[in-house]
Amino acid sequence: MKILNINNLEKRYGNFLAVDNISLSVEKGEVFGLLGPNGAGKSTTINIIIGLLKSNGGEIQIFEKEQKEYGKEIKKKIGIVPQNLAIYRELSAEENIKFFGSIYGIKGKALKEAVEYALEFTGLLEHRKNKAKNFSGGMMRRLNIACGIVHKPELVIMDEPTVGIDPQSRNHILESVKKLNQDGCTVIYTSHYMEEVENLCNRIAIMDKGKIIAEGTQEELITMVSDTQNLEVEISDIKNIDKEEILNIKGVKSLIIKDEVLNINSLREVSNLNLIIDYLTSKEVKIRNIGYTDINLETVFLNLTGRNLRD
Ligand code: ADP
Ligand code: MG
Repeated sequence: MKILNINNLEKRYGNFLAVDNISLSVEKGEVFGLLGPNGAGKSTTINIIIGLLKSNGGEIQIFEKEQKEYGKEIKKKIGIVPQNLAIYRELSAEENIKFFGSIYGIKGKALKEAVEYALEFTGLLEHRKNKAKNFSGGMMRRLNIACGIVHKPELVIMDEPTVGIDPQSRNHILESVKKLNQDGCTVIYTSHYMEEVENLCNRIAIMDKGKIIAEGTQEELITMVSDTQNLEVEISDIKNIDKEEILNIKGVKSLIIKDEVLNINSLREVSNLNLIIDYLTSKEVKIRNIGYTDINLETVFLNLTGRNLRD
């Protein structure tokens, strides 16, 4: 069953095309990743799906119903964990969760149980009485999740749920996404962290500048660049080298320069290691370290856009 289906979706802010004719679908039981750098259009897409923003064109079906027609009973099946925290700072963890539970129409004993479930699920039982404003960034993110899953939705949409938090809270959140999915929940997960999407998602759409530039399982995406290899070179005197000149070396497909490290992606069939070393030597830079690195989703993104996911 297709839980979500999007066709030719478009969104403009004034003249600016933030979502450029995208189509995608999510099957029941998936953890679907929407991966892309800041500004790609992920949140805009998510906000249209959940009805917060109006599109300028395209169709959306959720739970096999037209989005425009969906009523309360479908809204209850969806949980939303927004990028901008949707919690009340003056309320305690428990009060926040209770509030969101009641919005979804849960009452009485069922509400009490739902609050316990959400507190436990996000590891906040001990902090239930504390006000949200006293929470660390990671705990606020966990509370944000608790408020989004209190009604046990069938589909949870999480928009960058781990931005700017400590590793421990991050691990907790990643584990809880897995657990939600094991319990039968479909998850749509947006992130600009490649590692998270690789770790969690069975299918991934890569988004950039409003477009879906690639989509598939992790293996399918990596196959797209499996004819290439990444060479990482740490050098001195980075100012001596010229990006264009490296891109002109035989076989080189793309290049990222960060601090004093070059990441050069080249076609495997062209063995250009000598050419690269000769070039660097001719520019009088010292090679401090050199080696091949793994092909991953970052490589896919680099190959398709010429840029780094986290520029
Ligand atoms: P992401 O979530 O992938 O970081 P967003 O969907 O938030 O991307 O933003 C996509 C693009 O649309 C960005 O260039 C952003 O600056 C722009 N944008 C987002 N919201 C608005 C708005 N309300 N008005 C004008 N431009 C916006
Ligand atoms: Mg966003």
